[in-house]
Amino acid sequence: MNHNILNKKIGILGGGQLGRMLYLAGANWNLDISVLDSANCPAAGLCKTFVEGDIKDYDNVLSFGRTVDVLTIEIEHVNIDALKQLELEGIIVFPRPEILEVIKDKNLQKQFYKDNEIASSKFRFYASQNDLLEDINNDKENNLNFPFVQKTCMGGYDGKGVVVIKNKDDLINLLDCECIVEEMVDIQKELAVIIARNESSEIKVYPTSEMEFDSKSNLVKLVFTPANIDSKTELECQKVALEIVNKLDYVGILAVELFLTKDGRILVNEIAPRTHNSGHHTIEGSATSQFEQQLKAILNLPLGSTEFRKHSAMVNLVGEEGYEGKVKVKGLEKCLELSEFHLHLYGKMTTKPNRKMGHATVLANSFDEMQQKVDTVIKGLKIISE
Ligand code: ADP
Repeated sequence: MNHNILNKKIGILGGGQLGRMLYLAGANWNLDISVLDSANCPAAGLCKTFVEGDIKDYDNVLSFGRTVDVLTIEIEHVNIDALKQLELEGIIVFPRPEILEVIKDKNLQKQFYKDNEIASSKFRFYASQNDLLEDINNDKENNLNFPFVQKTCMGGYDGKGVVVIKNKDDLINLLDCECIVEEMVDIQKELAVIIARNESSEIKVYPTSEMEFDSKSNLVKLVFTPANIDSKTELECQKVALEIVNKLDYVGILAVELFLTKDGRILVNEIAPRTHNSGHHTIEGSATSQFEQQLKAILNLPLGSTEFRKHSAMVNLVGEEGYEGKVKVKGLEKCLELSEFHLHLYGKMTTKPNRKMGHATVLANSFDEMQQKVDTVIKGLKIISE
């Protein structure tokens, strides 16, 4: 008997925490899902069909993709040429490889905003550190004002591949790679919108989330919804997200990271063509989790409601400084006493400082109650080693 309700095999490139949570959402529907990644990744122990391989390798991705009907990703840094070939062979690939190609290269991504008049910080492309230094030395018109932000075009994540250059002394910190230089934005808040679109052009937008970052590690520390913004700003954020998915003719889940500037403007920082850390609290907080929504979007099923039931917050659980080795969770009992506290551990075998090990979500009836619960989690719950 065929238990697979959709009669389609789904493949996920990447078995990190995002791939694992996507797999779990599909497991609830008993979908036939395979995952490709290296052994011991968070999804490996869970999946019925786990394939060991390298998501950046052409042959690995090609042979894995040929075993499924619909292929998706948990991370954009995958072998795009193999995805293009799979599309030619009739495999459904969402998000489309051409779009991944634009998004994974920060220069092409910024150029897309410019070409489509989507508000984003001013930028310039440099093929190398030397080109950038030359420009700084010859910059008679003072276009390259300090401070500025240098970003590697390819492969950056979680703030790795981003440096702030405040003055000439900081130039020793310049990255040596193809890069873009952005003007420094005067940030009031960092916001994110998760949006989903299916092949029938149905679109659902989640309410805007507010993100707080850890100043030392640059990692997202806290995400909460609704964001503390006025309704005009909320509408503007949603409008920008809609514009982007429509202009890209996008299919899947897209995360749009935004800056609210001190003078009240909304600028796009960057987009991620997948589920996102800023949407983990949709699992319990929203009528439809971002993971279930991604499956619905790539399978061209009706999309689910994006309404949030309550004030919802997500706290990232990263490895504590000073601990390395087999994972131990400290302070869980006190958190479990909180009503509507939900723990997600990603199944990583070992911890190290600032490694993303899991997250906790709290739901509350008011912003103040949510804040109190968040404080309890942030102060009490720690990932250490045995
Ligand atoms: P990543 O892809 O590694 O997450 P981002 O481009 O999102 O990198 O940058 C990481 C962080 O750096 C942002 O969340 C923001 O705090 C800061 N940042 C990035 N670009 C700018 C900018 N132009 N002006 C000011 N701060 C910025």
